[in-house]
Amino acid sequence: MVDSNDQTAAVLEAIEAITERIESEKQHLIDLDSAIGDADHGANLARGFEAAHEETADMADADPANVVKTAGTALISEVGGASGPLYGGYLEKVQDRGDARVGDKTMVDAIVPAVDTYRKSIEEDDLHPLTALSKAVDAAERGVEFTVPLQAKKGRASYLGARSVGHQDPGATSTLFMLEELLNVASEHLEGDIDRDATSPTIPDEESEDG
Ligand code: ADP
Ligand code: MG
Repeated sequence: MVDSNDQTAAVLEAIEAITERIESEKQHLIDLDSAIGDADHGANLARGFEAAHEETADMADADPANVVKTAGTALISEVGGASGPLYGGYLEKVQDRGDARVGDKTMVDAIVPAVDTYRKSIEEDDLHPLTALSKAVDAAERGVEFTVPLQAKKGRASYLGARSVGHQDPGATSTLFMLEELLNVASEHLEGDIDRDATSPTIPDEESEDG
């Protein structure tokens, strides 16, 4: 079991890794958002995570939950766009806040399959947390691909109507980057290896009768 200090260290490392990843993908996210939005997603998130990183820099002795909360508050206050309050309000609440469903071409299309896959991997398939997280990353990746043919129903991209079809959603893409960084950091903090051959949990939507 990891103790609270190690959990805090892992959360701080994750914030740092995500901040660096978002910084290095800034232009990529800006390019995606310029196709179906207003070209600020990369800059928004880079600014937000830089603030989150700064605000949490001295929190090595804090409770891990407080670190997450401080980072979320920094994201909300620094990111002007839709994605700030959505990410800052913690991933699970994204759906409540943004009122987007799977299929609306938003970050929800990456988050929901990732969270569902993680839960099912742990609760039903009893997989190791790293294996579960790795499957969640795979599910998010499929979710990002799934956004390409969709017409946007929420956010700025929805103003484009049918012209939003054929473009990858920026927010789903940044979600994937964050999850990949979480997996990297988690694999340094948790014992054990990712089992690539573990039972592949079906995505809840696709669950068959006999599954
Ligand atoms: P803005 O759209 O205000 O410029 P960003 O560019 O930072 O903000 O973020 C755009 C991303 O936010 C979109 O690609 C989409 O994934 C996500 N998004 C927009 N509206 C919603 C919503 N209502 N629910 C969930 N995600 C949303
Ligand atoms: Mg934007």
